[in-house]
Amino acid sequence: MVEREKIIDGYKKGIVALQGLLAHGRGEAFDYLIGEKTQVFAEVAIEAAAALLLISKKPVVSVNGNTAALVPEHLVALSKELGAPLEVNLFYRTREREVAIYNWLRKHGATMILGVYDERVELAGLESKRRIVSKKGIYVADTVFVPLEDGDRTEALRRAGKNVITVDLNPLSRTARTANITIVDNITRALPLLVSKVSRLRSLDSITLRKIIENYDNEKVLGMALEFISKRLEHLASKGVTITF
Ligand code: ATP
Repeated sequence: MVEREKIIDGYKKGIVALQGLLAHGRGEAFDYLIGEKTQVFAEVAIEAAAALLLISKKPVVSVNGNTAALVPEHLVALSKELGAPLEVNLFYRTREREVAIYNWLRKHGATMILGVYDERVELAGLESKRRIVSKKGIYVADTVFVPLEDGDRTEALRRAGKNVITVDLNPLSRTARTANITIVDNITRALPLLVSKVSRLRSLDSITLRKIIENYDNEKVLGMALEFISKRLEHLASKGVTITF
């Protein structure tokens, strides 16, 4: 099934929110601008993300409707590879959607799913429903992997002292600029690559893993993504393609 169909199917199943359809459309536009391929700026970020997840004591993989619909099997693989829980963490939270995502993840083999049936607490610095997190998950996590996240929540996680790794096709989004590590790539390509990177880096000692993280510069990586996009726009313009936003 192609991505767009997966998102529509997820919407019909009550997994994806209406707003998730719009977010997907924004993602498609940016994917076109990065050539619909994993570029070097994403590869560098994936390596740093794998290293950070491996040295973290309590990593958590946050799951929203779009990621659940697009890459359920890879979310489960990452959770198993890291021995880290998945946490259902929704921007547009309803009980029905939480349960639908929980069941969907279970169907794909997930065994550690927080945020639905376990105890939840409030993370400071966010309004109402958006601050609810699992007491055993994001609340106590040192590193949170939050693909396709919104800027307010990413900022709240950083303020709470968490390391934040995201996947966001828009290098200009607040999330992309706030996270410690931003993988500018489509989640459908980035997640399988991250899972295999974690598996390959697992044999490295913690000093080597820390070196990878120390040498990583998120601003530089975002700059590379922007430069790539602006060159691509110039190239398209030189071929007579007009792009309007
Ligand atoms: P922010 O609040 O961070 O400034 P935003 O208002 O766009 O960003 P959301 O709609 O919550 O917030 O974020 C969704 C982000 O996910 C968008 O930047 C979109 O480009 C990106 N996105 C959508 N689909 C994908 C995908 N398949 N892979 C990676 N990123 C995606």
